[in-house]
Amino acid sequence: MRQNPNIIVTGTPGVGKTTHSESLAERTGLRHVSVNQIVKDKECHEGWSDEYQSWIVDEDKLLDAIEEDVKAGGCIIDWHACDLFPRSWIDLVVVLRADSSTLFDRLTARDYAEAKLQENLDSEIMEVLLQEAREAFDEEIVIELMSNTSDEMESNVDRIEAWVKQWKLDNASAGNALKSKT
Ligand code: ADP
Ligand code: MG
Repeated sequence: MRQNPNIIVTGTPGVGKTTHSESLAERTGLRHVSVNQIVKDKECHEGWSDEYQSWIVDEDKLLDAIEEDVKAGGCIIDWHACDLFPRSWIDLVVVLRADSSTLFDRLTARDYAEAKLQENLDSEIMEVLLQEAREAFDEEIVIELMSNTSDEMESNVDRIEAWVKQWKLDNASAGNALKSKT
């Protein structure tokens, strides 16, 4: 059994996954697992797509690369997809959301090409990542949080930190109950 929970922080590019994950890692002591970084560093891809301006991810390689760490628990998985991760690995799925105008400004600041910018804005409006999360995981573990302002981010991090503390209490007592029965 895991001593610490695994959390996915997902959502459309620009919603604030990395910023939230870093802040959460600092506050909770859990580890920020940046999938973008791992895909690059461990070459979990089949090359670069000029059309999408991103790596073509080899999901099997990626899962192999993170399996050991994630199974040990205490990972904050930062990525714009979630349905590839086995359900048994994951305790909480946080889907961050942002308004179109906010996302437009953030992605423009990142110099996204017009087509990619529009595709991501459409995806956010259509709630693609939220639907994906709800289909892949039990609805009780999927939470949707707004990430337009720094106040919202602070309150999100507070909520998730409180959830982590509660998870640890619940799971520590489950562990103790098991022990006392044996
Ligand atoms: P993602 O990892 O989802 O692509 P980032 O965490 O890199 O998004 O955030 C994109 C940009 O938006 C960064 O400049 C970040 O500081 C800003 N940002 C993200 N979330 C918020 C928020 N809730 N309030 C204010 N700025 C934010
Ligand atoms: Mg990011």
